This record gives sequence, structure tokens and C-alpha cells, in this order.
Amino acid sequence: MKAVVFRDVGQVSVESVEDPKILQPGDALIRVTTAAICGSDLHLYHGRIPGVLPGMIMGHEYVGIVEEVGSAVSAVRKGDRVVGAFHVACGHCRACRSGYFNQCSQGGVLGYGMAFGDLAGTQSEYARIPFADWTLRRVPDELTDEQALFSGDILSTAYGAVRNAGLRPGETAAVIGCGPVGLMAVMSALACGASRVFAVDLVKSRTDAAARFGAIPVPSGEVNPVARINEGTDGEGADVVIEAVGGIQTLALAFQLVRGGGRISAVGIASEEQFPFPLAQTLVKDITFRIGVANVHRDIDTTLALVRAGRIDPTAVITHRVSLHDAPEAYRLFDRKEAGKVVLRLS
Ligand code: NAD
Ligand code: ZN
Repeated sequence: MKAVVFRDVGQVSVESVEDPKILQPGDALIRVTTAAICGSDLHLYHGRIPGVLPGMIMGHEYVGIVEEVGSAVSAVRKGDRVVGAFHVACGHCRACRSGYFNQCSQGGVLGYGMAFGDLAGTQSEYARIPFADWTLRRVPDELTDEQALFSGDILSTAYGAVRNAGLRPGETAAVIGCGPVGLMAVMSALACGASRVFAVDLVKSRTDAAARFGAIPVPSGEVNPVARINEGTDGEGADVVIEAVGGIQTLALAFQLVRGGGRISAVGIASEEQFPFPLAQTLVKDITFRIGVANVHRDIDTTLALVRAGRIDPTAVITHRVSLHDAPEAYRLFDRKEAGKVVLRLS
């Protein structure tokens, strides 16, 4: 089969690789019909994730048709159209049973290298999905592949970040970063009842995009985001801040934007090991700081329901639709921020 593989830092290529096979009784084999390139793929692309070997199949956003299931799979069967989580979870360990599917003792991330379970990715014609009963969901007939696709990653990541922030109806939110995840956070915050959402990004075209989804644009390359958000919140700051970039600079900004008693929820992936936590300021301001990778299995059914009900239109972030063959060029465009969200069409 054909697949997008990691070759070197800044280089992916489309190559012929061996077809995947069922390896465990809980596996499903799917024929991928639609995939996407995620901001998290860029961390691999830049060589920032250890344990990624040349030849590894990239990607973890996917919709496909089940081709074959292992003997222990009962929730999906051959012919089902499915969307899957980017991380896998066994469903049975203590972490899974308490709802922390992202902490599964046998967990892993598709297409993210040795450090994350050594699982092949999904930017490929076929993919093996472990723990299929837990990782996959049947796509409701009335949803297209593109409508369902992002519930497996960026929409559930963003919605989960808003949920982790404990946003209550009527509150104000600031979203830092207006890449696809940030835009989904804007939509999720509004769907959860935020009265106003401020969208911060250095790139003006990105905050313009957020404005089209109902956010108040804060192009931080041109205006001081702290002054702008204070001005828009009676000098208080935002009730909740969602950090959707990753890194010291934007985490520091989150602490400046949040009001006293407010909550910060961070989902951006940073390459730095540590960041300076503003002790005195947070103590005085009584801040809650929450950080964590997405817990897709917890949130995927909710996001699919919101999409199905027309409350969120995740397809609105798609800027490019290309074939698998054109993925290397699409990675370059996405990396240069010339593409917003790229979908790979395989059928
Ligand atoms: P992206 O790279 O497309 O978007 C990042 C945005 O941040 C860009 O618009 C960029 O202009 C903006 N930005 C960069 N530096 C900034 C700064 N200093 N101030 C303001 N804006 C700045 O990525 P994405 O797909 O939207 O993903 C966002 C982050 O979320 C990435 O780090 C990604 O890895 C992460 N992510 C995390 C999870 C998870 O489980 N926690 C899941 C998916 C994605
Ligand atoms: Zn992702």
C-alpha cells in the first residue's frame, strides 16, 4: 500500500510499504478514506519528538471503512464507516475505568514513534487500529467523513480543553493560538455558552479566521493582547484561558490574560521541558492551572453529537484537500502556515 512516511527532519515522502495485518484479537484493520495533517505532526516533522525512525508511517486523524476485525472485537464490524481517536486505550485498566483514557497503561499514539507505543500512523491506504472497540466509533450516516474526522483529534482536544477549564455559560474565554485547534476551541467555547471569546494569534489571517467563527480577534503582532482583553472585560481579564500553541511564551501570556479566580487550560505541545510558573501572581490571583493531552475517548461522543446537531461545523477549518500523493507538499504549506487545515482524500 501507499503511505506517508517520515524520512528525515523536514522531509516526508509517499512510499510503498507493507500492508498492515491484524496482530491482536482487539485490532481492526481499516481502509482509510479520509485523513488529515495535524499540528502535532509538525513536531515530528521538525524532529522534536524522540524515537521516530525513518520509514515510520505518519498521521493520526482518520476516517475509514472496517475491512477486518480481530476475534475479540464486537463494537464494529466489516463494512462499518468509522472515525477513531488519535490515541488508543484498552478500556479495562484502572486509568481507563476511571475515565482517564489518555493515561491507559497500554496506551499509545498512532504514528508518533517508539516513545508512544510504536504504532504505525494513518496517512496510509490501510491502518491497524488497536483496541478497536474503544478506539473507534461508527460514523452516523448523515455525517460526511470530513464532519466526523476531527472528533478523533483536534475537535475533541479543543472541546476537552474547554471542558477542563470548567467554562460556565456567560463566562468570557481567551484562546491563545488560532491554528485548527484554537479555532475548534473558539467554536467549542461558544457552543458551551461563552458570552465572548477573544482569539489571540501573532498571524493576523489566523485571528481573522477566528473572527469568522464569532470570536473577537486579537492579532498579538499588532495589538497588546493583555491591554485588549482587559479593555474588553472591564479590566478583569478572561474567566478562562485556553492555551493552544505550546511553549513558554504563550503559557506566560495565559497567566497575564486570566482574571483573578480564573482557570487556564493548556493543550499546546511544547518542546521545552519546563516553564517558569509565576508563583506570587497565581497565589494572589487564586488561579487554577490545568494541563493535559486530549482525552478523546472521554469527549468523542459529545463532539460527534455537537456536530450532528449543527452546533459546531468542524469542516469550516479545512483550507486544503489533496490526494495522498500530494501530502509532502501539503506538509510544507502547513508548516509555513500557508495552509490552515489539510485533509488527505484517499477515495
Ligand atoms: P498550528 O501549528 O496549526 O497552530 C498554532 C498557531 O499558534 C498558529 O496559528 C501560530 O501562528 C500560533 N502561534 C505561534 N506562536 C504564537 C505566539 N507566540 N502567540 C500567539 N500565537 C502563536 O497547530 P494546531 O494544529 O492548531 O495545534 C496547536 C497545538 O495543539 C500544537 O502544539 C499541537 O501539537 C497541539 N495539540 C495537542 C493535542 C493534545 O492532545 N494536547 C492534540 C492536538 C494538537
Ligand atoms: Zn493531532
